[in-house]
Amino acid sequence: MLEADILIAGAGPAGATAALNLAASHRVLLVDRLAAPAQRIGESLPPAAGRLLADMGLLDAFIGQRHARYVGNRALWNGEQTEHHFLRDPDGHGWHLARAQFDTLLRAEARRRGAALLAPASVHAIAATDDGWHVTLRMAHGEVAARARIVIDASGRGALLARKLGARRQRLDRLACTWLYGQDQQDTETGFSRIEACEHGWWYSAPLPEQRRVLAFHTDADLAPSIGLRDAAALLDAARALPALGPLLARSGFTTEAQASATTAHSAMLERPAGAGWLTAGDAAISFDPLSSQGIFNALYTGLAAAEAAERMLGGDTAAADGYCQEVAAIGAAYQRHLAYCYGQERRWPNAEFWRRRHATA
Ligand SMILES: Cc1cc2nc3c(=O)[nH]c(=O)nc-3n(C[C@H](O)[C@H](O)[C@H](O)COP(=O)(O)OP(=O)(O)OC[C@H]3O[C@@H](n4cnc5c(N)ncnc54)[C@H](O)[C@@H]3O)c2cc1C
Repeated sequence: MLEADILIAGAGPAGATAALNLAASHRVLLVDRLAAPAQRIGESLPPAAGRLLADMGLLDAFIGQRHARYVGNRALWNGEQTEHHFLRDPDGHGWHLARAQFDTLLRAEARRRGAALLAPASVHAIAATDDGWHVTLRMAHGEVAARARIVIDASGRGALLARKLGARRQRLDRLACTWLYGQDQQDTETGFSRIEACEHGWWYSAPLPEQRRVLAFHTDADLAPSIGLRDAAALLDAARALPALGPLLARSGFTTEAQASATTAHSAMLERPAGAGWLTAGDAAISFDPLSSQGIFNALYTGLAAAEAAERMLGGDTAAADGYCQEVAAIGAAYQRHLAYCYGQERRWPNAEFWRRRHATA
C-alpha cells in the first residue's frame, strides 16, 4: 500500500505544477499513464506565463531550454489582416515551446522537490475512506493500491477522477483539430503565430524550435467528415490555397514530415471542479478552445491554485473547496465572454454551420 498526503492523477503541466508546489511540505504521489511526456500539439505560451514560472522558481531552467520566442499574432479574420505584437506587453514576449521538453522539465522539478513519480501507471478506481481516499492504480505488473488524504485530478480533458466521483462535465461545443508538423526551409516571420478564418472553421500555424512548424485546422467534429481534411495531403493542399497562410507556406518552403493527427479541442468545464477532499486542475477543470492559447497558462495557474487549496484542506479549512470553485468559475466566465467576442468578430459566412453555431451563442 502506497501512502501519500496528496495523490495527483496526471503529470502534465497542471499535475506537475501542483506537485512541485506541494512536495516540499507534504508526501506527494504523482501518477501518469505515460512513462515520459510525448510530443503533442499545444505550444504557444503567452508572455504572462513567464511571471508564473518565475514565482515558482522555474524561470531560469525554462529559459535554459531555449524554446523559440513568440512575439505576437498575425490574423486574417473577418477579411482584415491584423497584427498584435507583444512589444508593449509588460511581460515581454511569449514562447513557442518544444512541448515534450517543457512537460519533462515540470515533471523533473516535481521530483527534484520531493514528489514521488509513478509512471507508467493509470489511475483506475477510487473509493472514499474515513480519512481520505483509497485509489487503485494499474501498472505493467498488476494493480497497486494507494491511500491519500486528498486527490487532485489533473488527468486532462478526460477529467477521469472527477467523473468517477460523480462530477458532471459540460461540453460547450464540438470543436476538433486536425494538424501536422513539418519543416520550414527558410525562417520567414520569426516568432509570429498565424490565425486565419475560413468558411468551415479556422487555421493556425506557428513556427517551432529548430525551424519546425505546426499547421492545424479547426472545425466541428460532426462537420469534419464532409470537409474531408483528415489526411496530410488534403490538409496541406487546402492550406496552400488560403489567402494569407498559403503565401507564407510557399515563402517558408514548408514541407511536411509526418501523417496528420486529429484530436478533440472543444471547450468544456466541470459543473463543480472541487469538493470535500478532492480538486481538479488544468484541462480537467476547464478545457479551452485553442483559439484562446490559454490552456497551458491555465494549467500552470490552476495547478498552483489547486496546490494552495489542498494546503488549506489539509489544515482543516472546510471553505477551501468552495473558494477554489469560485476562482475557477470566474476564469470560466471571463474565458467564455472573450471567446464569444472573438468568434463574433468574424461575419463573412453567416450561413455556414460552423459560424452560425458560434454566432448563436455570442
Ligand atoms: C489542438 C489543440 C491545440 C492547443 N494549443 C495550445 C496552445 O497553443 N497553447 C496553449 O496554452 N494550450 C494549447 N492547447 C491546450 C493545452 O495543450 C492543454 O490545455 C494543456 O496540455 C493542459 O494541461 P493539463 O496538465 O491539464 O493536461 P494534459 O497536458 O492533458 O495532461 C494530462 C496528463 O494526465 C495523464 N493521464 C490521463 N489519464 C490518466 C490516467 N487514467 N491515469 C494516469 N494519468 C493519466 C496524461 O498522460 C497526461 O500526461 C491546445 C489543445 C489542443 C487540443
